[in-house]
This record gives sequence, C-alpha cells and structure tokens, in this order.
Amino acid sequence: MRSAKAFTNQTFTKRVDHDGGRHRPPRAPAEPAVCPGCGAVYVKRRWSRSAASRLQAVGLAAPFAVRVCAACRRRQHGVPHGYLHVDGDFFTTHRSDIEPLLRNEVERAREDNPLHQILAWTDLEGGGLLIATATEHLAQRLGHALEKAYDGDVHYGFSHENKLARVWWHR
Ligand SMILES: [Zn+2]
Repeated sequence: MRSAKAFTNQTFTKRVDHDGGRHRPPRAPAEPAVCPGCGAVYVKRRWSRSAASRLQAVGLAAPFAVRVCAACRRRQHGVPHGYLHVDGDFFTTHRSDIEPLLRNEVERAREDNPLHQILAWTDLEGGGLLIATATEHLAQRLGHALEKAYDGDVHYGFSHENKLARVWWHR
C-alpha cells in the first residue's frame, strides 16, 4: 500500500507548518551588511560605498552580514542597461586624456550609487571605444561629461521597454 504513506498524520502536520510560514510578512534584509564584491555597505535600506554610510554601519554595533549587493549581482549576470560609444579622430589623438576622465566620472558616480558600474570596456576595431554600463544613468552621465569637457557630437537614445540607454559621442 504505497499510497497510504502520503496521508499519514505526519504529512498533514508538516503541511500546516508550511502554510503558517507563508502568511508572515517578508523580512527586511539584515543590517548592516557588506558586499564581498565591492565593499559596499548596506545600511538604512540602501547600498552605499560612501564613508558616511560605512560609519553609520559600524555605528550600529551589530555584526555585519555578508551579502552580494545589487550592483555586483547585476555585474555577475552581466546585464547592461547602458552603452556609451566613443569614436572619432579627436578621440584617437586624445585618448590618453579622455579615458582617465571617463574612469574618474565612473568613480564619482559609484560613490553616489554603487549600482553605477562598468560591465565591459571594449576597444573597437578602427579605434573606437564601447563601454557597457550597469545603469542607464551612468551611460548618460559619461556622455554629459565628455560633452562638457570636449564638446563634440553627442546623441542619446533610449529604449524604455527594456530600460536601455545608448549614448554616442563623436569628435
Ligand atoms: Zn557589491
């Protein structure tokens, strides 16, 4: 009688426990937490890399949970939400100035929000550069930074459907 076993008293007891758990409200993630990928801390319900947040987290005087932050999870899964395409003769001859400017801008953006990360930095054949960003905002921000520093032609394109920003800068 194989089927009889599925309806023992024990089975029903276990099911009741399960249902009870389902009605509990979702638990807020533990604070403070630190991300092993980038060192960001989770405090006051957000991830941050700022010194102020780190102090807040330490100030809680509670043990740190270790949890991968949203930005690192996104980077691991490699889903870009923005692309910056840079090319032109000016870019080729001023590359040694332009690339550090872009890297600085990324660092500044990451201090505001650790989600703003570079997923891929690709040299294109023919001298261009293609940067894949984890957020739409970062691609736009890099485009603005180039425009502000060097003028040039900049175009912004969006696909709201799949949350994708494409930015072209040419000079
Ligand atoms: Zn992280």
